[in-house]
Amino acid sequence: MMKYSIFSLARNARTYHQDWPKAWRSPDPKPEYDVVIVGGGGHGLATAYYLATVCGITNVAVIEKGWLGGGNTGRNTTIVRSNYLWDESAALYDHAVNLWEGLSQELNYNVMFSQRGLLHLAHNVHDMQEIGRRGNSIYLNGVDSEFITPEQVKEMVPFINLNCRYPVMGALLQKRGGTARHDAVAWGYARAADAAGVDIIQNCEVQGFDITDGKIQAVRTSRGTIKAKKVGVVTAGHSSVVAEMAGFRMPLESFPLQAFVSEPLKPIVDCVIMSNAIHAYISQSDKGELVIGGSGDPFISYSQRGSFDQIEHVAGPILELYPIFSRVRMMRQWGGITDVTTDRSPILTKTPVEGMYFNCGWGTGGFKATPGSGHVFAMSIAKGEMHPIAAPFSMDRFSSGALIDEAAAAAVAH
Ligand SMILES: Cc1cc2nc3c(=O)[nH]c(=O)nc-3n(C[C@H](O)[C@H](O)[C@H](O)COP(=O)(O)OP(=O)(O)OC[C@H]3O[C@@H](n4cnc5c(N)ncnc54)[C@H](O)[C@@H]3O)c2cc1C
Repeated sequence: MMKYSIFSLARNARTYHQDWPKAWRSPDPKPEYDVVIVGGGGHGLATAYYLATVCGITNVAVIEKGWLGGGNTGRNTTIVRSNYLWDESAALYDHAVNLWEGLSQELNYNVMFSQRGLLHLAHNVHDMQEIGRRGNSIYLNGVDSEFITPEQVKEMVPFINLNCRYPVMGALLQKRGGTARHDAVAWGYARAADAAGVDIIQNCEVQGFDITDGKIQAVRTSRGTIKAKKVGVVTAGHSSVVAEMAGFRMPLESFPLQAFVSEPLKPIVDCVIMSNAIHAYISQSDKGELVIGGSGDPFISYSQRGSFDQIEHVAGPILELYPIFSRVRMMRQWGGITDVTTDRSPILTKTPVEGMYFNCGWGTGGFKATPGSGHVFAMSIAKGEMHPIAAPFSMDRFSSGALIDEAAAAAVAH
């Protein structure tokens, strides 16, 4: 792999940037792998990368039905934070933030991780109680969080309208929260995984599995059958569909979630601002676009597009809180399919099929966990036992009742 650096940039400038090597190969699938990862989003690629680099398993393929990051990884609004309520979540999401902090250097790929700070605004008494309970719990878990007053919010966000229909009563601030560049995360992991020996196979759909005596034998794909000792399924919104191919049900529902961006503006929003009560949030990309999102559509669908009334539900409160944006034009809108669990926590699990593991249920908020999720999932697959950070997120919790209810922390959808 060519190391990206100021020197390689200068060397390639001499040949008018015509000779850069491809970031990853596109090999034909081999007949057999030690591990096949289904799904080439951030989580699948991160899993493959850590399998090869941390666990020493390099005979690995990532099978992606479309293009890398074409699922939710390339469609999300890039918010990264770890301010969840329960100890289990703190361990998982903060593990991810710790990995984010060194990720660009580790992958030799700029994922543009920007810890610009993240505000959860409180608009009513219930919100104040919720951020109070969660803020204290986060603090006890050693994760950074602070309460700030409306005046301090105004200092950070001078253009906010504090006394509108949604008065701002306070906020929870996580300074280590922020954003990262979503495509770069997929591409960075893909390039580094490829360099470590992983085969990345795009335009190859998994259509079924060969299972004998309850044990995985092979993955049936649109490019033939590939034998696999172990399979990790990381297919987000389509996880329940893939589970059905393997003969069991996943406790998931798939909902469309949309987002939109404005025309580019000069820098004005230098943190991420979320409002749980009104389901709207805003940040600004490095290109200058306002990145705006809210809650999912209230119906189950696989259509990868959102409905128009949600756009109105999100845009209305955004303009109440930030009237300065009333004449900004929206440039693009898109949707993704999010796989949502009843407790709004992810599923990292063994399955009824021996050798088959699932990493799903991240719903509307899994981008932030990409490095941590890939890391602990890879170690779980390699060892055949769930990593201690992943273990509480097993699918058994939906029958045992040991749920990890993060509905409030995930309320604004991220
Ligand atoms: C609009 C929107 C905004 C969001 N905002 C945020 C945010 O701000 N912060 C945050 O933390 N999270 C956010 N999320 C959630 C986040 O995007 C996801 O949780 C995360 O990206 C999931 O990553 P993944 O790798 O598991 O899935 P994906 O990136 O969806 O990858 C799954 C891949 O599996 C492939 N696949 C599916 N079926 C098959 C098959 N049969 N064979 C082969 N391949 C298959 C798909 O093509 C896809 O590429 C948002 C999501 C959306 C839609």
